[in-house]
Amino acid sequence: MPESLDNVKAANPGPVLDYELLLDCVHCGLCTSACPTYAETGDENESPRGRIYLMRGVTDGKLGLTDRVRSHLELCLDCRACETACPSGVQYGKLIEPFRIAMDQADASRPRGDWFRRYILFGLLPYPKRLRWALTPARIAQRTGALAVARALRLTRLLPSPLRRMVEMLPSPRRNEGALPEFLPAIGKRRATVALFTGCVGDAMFRHVNWATARVLQHNGCDVHVPPTQACCGAIHFHAGANEPAWQLADTNLAAFDPQRFDAILNNIAGCGSMLKEYGHHWHDSQQPARAAWAAKVRDVNEFLDQLGPERPCGEIRAVATYHDPCHLLHAQKIHDAPRRLLALVPGLELRDLPETELCCGAAGTYNLMQPDMSSRLSRRKIENIRHTQARVVITANAGCALQIAREAREQGERLAVVHPMEILDWSYRGITPRWQSIS
Ligand code: SF4
Ligand code: SF4
Repeated sequence: MPESLDNVKAANPGPVLDYELLLDCVHCGLCTSACPTYAETGDENESPRGRIYLMRGVTDGKLGLTDRVRSHLELCLDCRACETACPSGVQYGKLIEPFRIAMDQADASRPRGDWFRRYILFGLLPYPKRLRWALTPARIAQRTGALAVARALRLTRLLPSPLRRMVEMLPSPRRNEGALPEFLPAIGKRRATVALFTGCVGDAMFRHVNWATARVLQHNGCDVHVPPTQACCGAIHFHAGANEPAWQLADTNLAAFDPQRFDAILNNIAGCGSMLKEYGHHWHDSQQPARAAWAAKVRDVNEFLDQLGPERPCGEIRAVATYHDPCHLLHAQKIHDAPRRLLALVPGLELRDLPETELCCGAAGTYNLMQPDMSSRLSRRKIENIRHTQARVVITANAGCALQIAREAREQGERLAVVHPMEILDWSYRGITPRWQSIS
């Protein structure tokens, strides 16, 4: 059994790992071509096999945790494409995630209280109300055109790097529909009772997607509950090495959603969904069985609707589109067909295959803020692939991917609308013709 993350104080983070998981890797290398960082650098140390070697070397005490070793491990996107590619079933996420948390905790000399982590990553992003307030000046600049001018004159480059990235990613303002009510009743015969997880960045920037999701669920006979005391899923903290706050957020959500009341706990953001589904795995205390039972109720909304059997949408959506697979939906949750099957129901929508769709767009949670160089290389590669399809609409089921792809498209002067599958279904159910020009 691995040691609890809480107890790790030693310079070697290896003891947190289940050593047997390291041994599952037979070093065949079949995962390397699926790895985005290896695809970009060709460096074996930046491949899944290489990183497993590094973690094992450190764990066995044969390798020191040098800055170079750290940087190879920190450059990993945790996209888990290697898990999909691996024929031996190596659970790479269960290796890299605890290892990186412990790596962070083990080095007391590293600055963990830097302003960006403290005030933005941990103090702002997980709290939708604060985030909405903080975005107000940028929203005003956006509506008055000042932001476009600042971007054109490259004045945003004067901001510190992570803040600049955030400003560059700010999506176009959409109609503010207000907060979701705590209950939205099923339309017609009730087929299910569900709870909706609205997310932190999701609630602050993608409320329109939450509304679209709720309406689609209502249309499909679901009573939709939106528990008001829900919190961020904890992924921002967890992936940045702050285990304790992530743990607390998980337990806040456990208290907010009573799994007995709901057929499913739904979410529409792949990164959050993946974290919620893993609540039963990360922490080993007396609450662990309750977390595991709770997590067993979590479903991505595409997965849930596909299993429920969706009502056929009637409204025509005329568009040439392509679907980008979010890593945390495709690789972490193994959901590939469900969104495609739902979109195939929409009359008029032409869905073209995206080359290298399984390759990360470089968003990867807050990776795009912390590792801007590799992140930009991957987003440029993604836009190049989108260009090949000649689609003008990109559909993706993750807020982070949507922000990243839209940012890169803007930067390259590419006019692309980036939307969620639930928006497409919602428009089709309601007979609305989207104005693509206003979505980017
Ligand atoms: S992770 Fe899997 S595919 Fe990659 S080298 Fe190890 S066994 Fe082979
Ligand atoms: S998680 Fe992604 S970036 Fe990391 S080793 Fe696996 S494929 Fe490569």
